[in-house]
Amino acid sequence: MKKTLKDIKVAGKTVLVRVDFNVPIKDGVIGDDNRIKAAMPTIKYLVEQGSKVVLFSHLSRIKAEEDKAKKSLAPVAKRLEEVAGQPVKFVAQTRGSELENAIKSLNGGEILLFENTRFEDVKDGEVVKYESKNNAELGKYWASLGDVFVNDAFGTAHRAHASNVGIASNISESCVGFLVQKELEMLAKGIDSPEHPFIAIIGGAKVSDKIGVIDNLLQKADKIIIGGGMAYTFFKALGHNIGKSLCEEDKVDLAKQYMDKANGKIILPIDSANAPEFKDVNPSFSGVDLPDDVMGLDIGPDSIKLFEDTLKGAKTVAWNGPMGVFEFENFKKGTVAVCEAIANLQEAFTLIGGGDSAAAAIQNGFAEKFTHISTGGGASLEYMEGKTLPGVEAIQNK
Ligand code: AMP
Repeated sequence: MKKTLKDIKVAGKTVLVRVDFNVPIKDGVIGDDNRIKAAMPTIKYLVEQGSKVVLFSHLSRIKAEEDKAKKSLAPVAKRLEEVAGQPVKFVAQTRGSELENAIKSLNGGEILLFENTRFEDVKDGEVVKYESKNNAELGKYWASLGDVFVNDAFGTAHRAHASNVGIASNISESCVGFLVQKELEMLAKGIDSPEHPFIAIIGGAKVSDKIGVIDNLLQKADKIIIGGGMAYTFFKALGHNIGKSLCEEDKVDLAKQYMDKANGKIILPIDSANAPEFKDVNPSFSGVDLPDDVMGLDIGPDSIKLFEDTLKGAKTVAWNGPMGVFEFENFKKGTVAVCEAIANLQEAFTLIGGGDSAAAAIQNGFAEKFTHISTGGGASLEYMEGKTLPGVEAIQNK
């Protein structure tokens, strides 16, 4: 078990907190501040304890010097002041004497935010990736700025960066924050020790992205429902005609092997909503053998019914990936129906692994009905694959 905030004495200490403030910003305006709000329990607790709170985060990617102007965390500091209801000292540096002096002059209960950690990926126009490749010197330097490290950024927990693994490996005390703690508890409950029947629903574009998840969940789940673009590679493996649908030719054999070893656990769609090309047009429908001149862009009505029936009585449901091209009005029905079917399950523990499925649930007003929607698509996907998360692994054990 990893140390959590309450395992460490933080009063009066300088606490370095890796948060996930990777919020959408357009023309200096923040679109959605949920990630800022999600970090507040940890920040508030540290303020109440009288810690000197030093926050930092990445924002988007920095690939060239000119990206920096648009990807400063300055607007986030402003919004954070409003959300936290207290001043936030912003330092537009990722290292140096200005940052060091500002941290030294903090009083207990005060908050400082420093600049986008990924500014360290480009130096004088050269791509160096000090942050993203966990440069040893950078992790050590950041660690030297405080007494305690708190990782509360679940969205980057699957990456070994200087701002998580680098600092954690170079500081005497570390723990996870309340947000990461909750994510880990929910994922452990849903994936590692689920109540049965446990039904997993996997969708999205590619088999290759989800092979690890299917592999791991075949050992844990009672049924795995597969939808989305990846279903057509499975159809092909079973000898069906998939027309112009998405297919990973080099994964057809693998899909066949999975069907063989799944022993009836894998549930595939039984019909398909199709279009002549990748366009948001009125669908035509077919069974699992598609006409040559169409591509499958969503599951059809019979599959929706099958999946709804399969979900009935589930005690645990984990969902990752849409059932079709849900960005198209005409091809979002399968995703919305599955989302609704999960949301309406009474007494089930229901988990969404972030990304597109989380977006679909939130857009369609079902967010409140799920037990947990992960804030980290990539991190929760890797958790579902049974992988350890380096950003968590590097934190001290209890
Ligand atoms: P992923 O990132 O793997 O979860 O894939 C999500 C993407 O898969 C979404 O952008 C969907 O539009 C896309 N997708 C889902 N079903 C299909 C399909 N049948 N054909 C093409 N793309 C699809």
